[in-house]
Amino acid sequence: MGEKVVLVRVETSPEDISGMNAAQGILTQRGGMTSHAAVVARGMGKCAVVGCSDISINEHKEEIRIGDKTFRKGDLLTLDGSTGEVFEGGIKVIDPEIKGNFAKVMEWSDEFRRLGVRTNADTPKDARKAREFGAEGIGLCRTEHMFFEGDRIQSVRKMILADNKEERKAALNELLPFQREDFVELFRAMKGLPVTIRLLDPPLHEFLPKGEEIKESANRLNVSEEELKEKLETLSEVNPMLGHRGCRLAITYPEIAEMQTQAILEAAIEVKKEGIEPTVEIMVPLIAHINELKKVKEFITVTADKIMRDEETEVKYRIGTMIEIPRAALTADEIAEEAEFFSFGTNDLTQMCFGFSRDDIGKFLPEYKKKEILEEDPFQTIDVEGVGKLIETAVERGRKTNPQLKIGICGEQGGEAKSVEFCHKKGLDYVSCSPFRVPVARLAAAQSAIQEEKQQQK
Ligand code: PEP
Ligand code: MG
Repeated sequence: MGEKVVLVRVETSPEDISGMNAAQGILTQRGGMTSHAAVVARGMGKCAVVGCSDISINEHKEEIRIGDKTFRKGDLLTLDGSTGEVFEGGIKVIDPEIKGNFAKVMEWSDEFRRLGVRTNADTPKDARKAREFGAEGIGLCRTEHMFFEGDRIQSVRKMILADNKEERKAALNELLPFQREDFVELFRAMKGLPVTIRLLDPPLHEFLPKGEEIKESANRLNVSEEELKEKLETLSEVNPMLGHRGCRLAITYPEIAEMQTQAILEAAIEVKKEGIEPTVEIMVPLIAHINELKKVKEFITVTADKIMRDEETEVKYRIGTMIEIPRAALTADEIAEEAEFFSFGTNDLTQMCFGFSRDDIGKFLPEYKKKEILEEDPFQTIDVEGVGKLIETAVERGRKTNPQLKIGICGEQGGEAKSVEFCHKKGLDYVSCSPFRVPVARLAAAQSAIQEEKQQQK
């Protein structure tokens, strides 16, 4: 307890969330700018070096090799998340704060910028931090991260392994109070500012036990180890990133979306009774076809109407969608007729536009840069000529059929200065990024507005 530790893993998955929470820093061998470890660490404001291919990790032996040196559990390392460097020993570090001249520049930025700046936050703690940094709402709450706390994962597993709808609903009912409480806290932290909550997105097997954990999990779930293994086999996918995830989960198991909608609406009603008027936005992930959105919208509205009737309280809420599949960007005119907002998920949009796995880019990107095939990592900064064209098309087509459409970005590029400038130029309403990048986004948004004004004056 109280010891400062660095979490070292080949790569992380959602089940590492508690370990990441406890760690001062995170070091992984595999991954890139938008893989799980990077996205979560950024959200938590933790230092991380992700996809450090110069190290080799032996998780069983609890040791890592860097060059000809071996480091074991207990050895001291220091990470620099900006440069990706790993230092031997402990180096003195300081915590960032907004004060003095930095605070003044931030104030000036807010006078000039047109773009809104929101944050990607999944916990009330992150949300409060982001508010300190000047975020004007939550642009993305990844609800899956709420499924790993405490014993919740057991209910999630019960839900996934359920043989029928009744069993699934019973497990979801166990999760409902936790989800509701999380949302109440988020709405309280944001005090009426918009909170965009995304329905469950990742492939379900990410929540299931692996390796040595299977035996213990089978005991807890009251099934035999063989039975559990069989189930795990049926759930495994060849290509999970393109598999049973996103809105496809809601379409096959509507009760998941229904439980999440119930938790969101009940939480909104609760804070409304406390005197906070929440701005609720429910976001559907991974839409490729308009009919997917129509169907999930139906589940949401039927559930929301029932909750409001039962509670005899009205709350306003908006339904929108991520635009993260090229087909959605190309058919944005149709999709905008059903959506009140778009949020560009440029992590997946880049992955699917380039056909680059966001988790494996570390293997070839350095070579791509060295050979001058690509100047920059498109997961860090928007690839204007390709992914940017999809964004431009979606903005233009979406606004044509729905002039009121609110448009934002919540992929990792939303906190990177050049991408923020691109979003300004393309007329987006806001960018959303991890709490610690909010100041960068505020400044970049102001610089873009000033630049534009200067050009107009010429
Ligand atoms: C995205 O794809 O850009 C996004 C924000 O969603 P996630 O990273 O959770 O897939
Ligand atoms: Mg995505």
